[in-house]
Amino acid sequence: MEKKNSNRKGKGNGCALYKKCGGCQLQNMTYEEQLSYKQATCIKTLGRFGFVEEIIGMKNPYHYRNKVQAAFGMTRGGKIISGVYQSSSHNIVLVDSCMTEDETADKIIVDIRKMLPSFKLFPYNEDTGKGFLRHVLVKRGFSTNQVMVVLVTGSALFPKKNEFLKKLLSLHSEITTVVQNINGSKTSLVLGEREIVLYGEGYIEDVLCSKRFRISPKSFYQINPTQTEVLYKTAVDFAGLSGKETVLDAYCGIGTIGLVAAENAGQVIGVELNADAVADAKINARLNKTKNIRFFCADAGKFMVEAAKENEKIDVVFMDPPRAGSDLNFLRSLVTLGPEKVVYISCNIETQARDLLYLCKNGYKVKKIQGVDMFPHTKHIETVVLLSQRRPDTHIDIKFDLSELDITAAETKATYQEIKDYVLDKHGLKVSSLYISQVKAKCGIIERECYNKGEGKSRVPQCPKEKENAIMDALKHFRMI
Ligand code: SAH
Repeated sequence: MEKKNSNRKGKGNGCALYKKCGGCQLQNMTYEEQLSYKQATCIKTLGRFGFVEEIIGMKNPYHYRNKVQAAFGMTRGGKIISGVYQSSSHNIVLVDSCMTEDETADKIIVDIRKMLPSFKLFPYNEDTGKGFLRHVLVKRGFSTNQVMVVLVTGSALFPKKNEFLKKLLSLHSEITTVVQNINGSKTSLVLGEREIVLYGEGYIEDVLCSKRFRISPKSFYQINPTQTEVLYKTAVDFAGLSGKETVLDAYCGIGTIGLVAAENAGQVIGVELNADAVADAKINARLNKTKNIRFFCADAGKFMVEAAKENEKIDVVFMDPPRAGSDLNFLRSLVTLGPEKVVYISCNIETQARDLLYLCKNGYKVKKIQGVDMFPHTKHIETVVLLSQRRPDTHIDIKFDLSELDITAAETKATYQEIKDYVLDKHGLKVSSLYISQVKAKCGIIERECYNKGEGKSRVPQCPKEKENAIMDALKHFRMI
């Protein structure tokens, strides 16, 4: 079962782990074919809103990921392995290198795995609570070359800590900080709450669009910095700022888009739910000596409702929500606030199309659509869409049934694949269509007579509680329940 990823590139010469890992769904295509496929997908889903510009690809679409995460475990034969979870299971597939991942990060992970036995340290076992290491997360600033290693452990206890660190740093002098993250709970989330800085500052910095950014272990930072520059430049160009506008950067993470836009704006407000990211964003404003920006830690939807109540004047909104898209609170209040322009950045065109439909029915018009390939070899697509207020003289009254505005309507339903992707992204769990249909049935979502109900005497596997909760979470996110 242990096959090494030989890291081969190109059509028909894909990675040996293609099926088991499942991460690079498009690797059987050449890069040009991948781009054509993504362009066609963009046209299919977003084409009804307007012309879709040619997707911007990468010159060198390999080893672009600046963040690499590996799970640690043991084979039945007692050998330590690290890598990704095998499709539809909790088994780990050994990965030594990957054509999408940063090569330095991959080497560090392999060396940590090799070091463990000599320190008598073992992977953590969730069932017995014994052992030490659960995951290793490496983030590298591609511009600064700063490297952060996060060791996720089952408890705070770290036998032979100093010797371990000494050995790791002697093998990899490029490491600038090491953090221990403690995650003792039975969860599929990688990172726990508590962190101990073992070496260095506990964060790294990177430079994007000539701005310096601090990145903490738990803060979101785009995983493909080369294309992120293209993405942000496209978004800021779309906004066509004159230097006077009040700009809102919603779902702002560590403040990247807002800080890039601030140069050409009157003032910028950033809103983000993750407190660690907001703390980084505030520091980033200082690092870049940007004075016309403020950050708020809040749910973007709630923040918008308050802003609409206060009758705030906002000229341009950048919105970059997670895969589930925005929520009705946010969209309704956005329409009430009525900014002249909205730049909607998305990593999920299905939920973006759903939200665009709402905005187009409520006074906005799509002006530009641009795909940027942030995730070569995978099926994931990133898009930037510019909307502007429909001018009263060009306003067309569209009649529609109020129920169409209910975002739980059929058009917004997520596909099985989207639910699977969401559960994997957020909970690190692979779930089958059968399990999804069982949970849907439990929630009263009528399903067609369907998925392999099992015939005769064969027993149908029942969705375990942990996966059921994760699927429920996905159904809530996609507003299906
Ligand atoms: N614009 C940033 C981050 C985009 S990722 C960048 O380019 O780096 C989406 C961000 O939305 C994440 O930082 C996540 O923490 C945040 N988020 C998720 N749900 C949110 C909510 N309900 N309200 C505000 N922020 C949210």
